Amino acid sequence: MKNKKFETQAIRAQLARTEYNEHSTPLFLTSSFVFDSAEEMRAAFNDESDDFIYSRYSNPTVAEFVNKVCLMEGAEAGVSMATGMAAIYTSFMALLKSGDHVVSCSSVFGATHAIFTKYFPKLNISHSYFNTNKENEIEKLIKPETRFIYLETPTNPAIELIDLEVVAAVAKKHNILLIVDNCFATPYLQQPIKHGADLVIHSATKYMDGQGRVLGGVVVGKKELIHEIYLYGRLTGPSLSPFNAWVLTKSLETLALRMDRHCENALYVAEKLEGNAALENVSYPFLKSHPHHLIAKKQMKAGGGIITVTVKGGYEGAKTFLDKLQMIKISPNLGDSRSIATHPASSTHCKLSEEDRLAVGITPGLVRISIGLEHKDDILNDILNALK
Ligand SMILES: *Cc1c(COP(=O)(O)O)cnc(C)c1O
Repeated sequence: MKNKKFETQAIRAQLARTEYNEHSTPLFLTSSFVFDSAEEMRAAFNDESDDFIYSRYSNPTVAEFVNKVCLMEGAEAGVSMATGMAAIYTSFMALLKSGDHVVSCSSVFGATHAIFTKYFPKLNISHSYFNTNKENEIEKLIKPETRFIYLETPTNPAIELIDLEVVAAVAKKHNILLIVDNCFATPYLQQPIKHGADLVIHSATKYMDGQGRVLGGVVVGKKELIHEIYLYGRLTGPSLSPFNAWVLTKSLETLALRMDRHCENALYVAEKLEGNAALENVSYPFLKSHPHHLIAKKQMKAGGGIITVTVKGGYEGAKTFLDKLQMIKISPNLGDSRSIATHPASSTHCKLSEEDRLAVGITPGLVRISIGLEHKDDILNDILNALK
């Protein structure tokens, strides 16, 4: 499958087939596996064979999902977890030790920020944040004990971009790792390993499932790093359920198709909303007016499915707009076939101080809209009616 195109791999890559010769991906709901002999079991436990042992370690359906993500990201190896946060936390715990330091972009997912600020200090792990527009300031933050640079691009929720090649060059120069949370872009739009990342993490809950059904997480990249993460996960138990892995594997078959439509709808809605009298600003990476438009063009195939609008009148304006939406629902999720609106300042990012929020572009009037797969005119009209 290695020489086939993205869309073909997404559908045709398959590791396991049972004696029934089923055409679609089989689901192996089993907690453990049996061995033909005591010797085979001994070999499996001593890493002398690849036999499946126990589904906390690995499972054929889970392996299907991981294999597909590796092909999509161009990664050597991968390991999956129950959620995106489990993938992030397990990777951190496997790679860091007391005394280490990490450099991260300041606009990280809220729960990731909480790990840095609330739990890292307990473990004597420190962090420094860099601002999205200031890749050139990263170098000053690096210390002898810095283990990796961590970032998201596009960022959540402000939809800013970070130049992957620039950051990868800094990481390489200082011999530290670059870890990218690629959740917003998906491997269809952006493959950070090609730009120099060592590890790529996903919340599979978002576009990989794409239909708001299951939670999942995955991390792919360099084999020796993945092995460390796998060993930590296999002991501590944040394993992905085989059922969820099966749902996700089937979902990946349509990732390219869905992302094309998410991007088409998002660009259409963003273009139509630009200049609307009720809005201060519309942000979308593939709008020419986006401050990081050139970075977007360089590292992304299209702009993704998320737009932000800044409603005039601050929090009151945003609240009125959200309450007037009819079809689009208010929810924290994103990357769903159904369009979703979120007010970050009062919900996902309410724990940050006003100052910290403003530093990462979260103004009181900012609304994040995950543009779904409904007809683009129905999405646009719902937004336009609410803005009236
Ligand atoms: C949702 C999300 C996560 C966390 O994923 P879960 O599956 O909810 O644990 C991490 N990073 C980003 C960018 C996300 O959007």
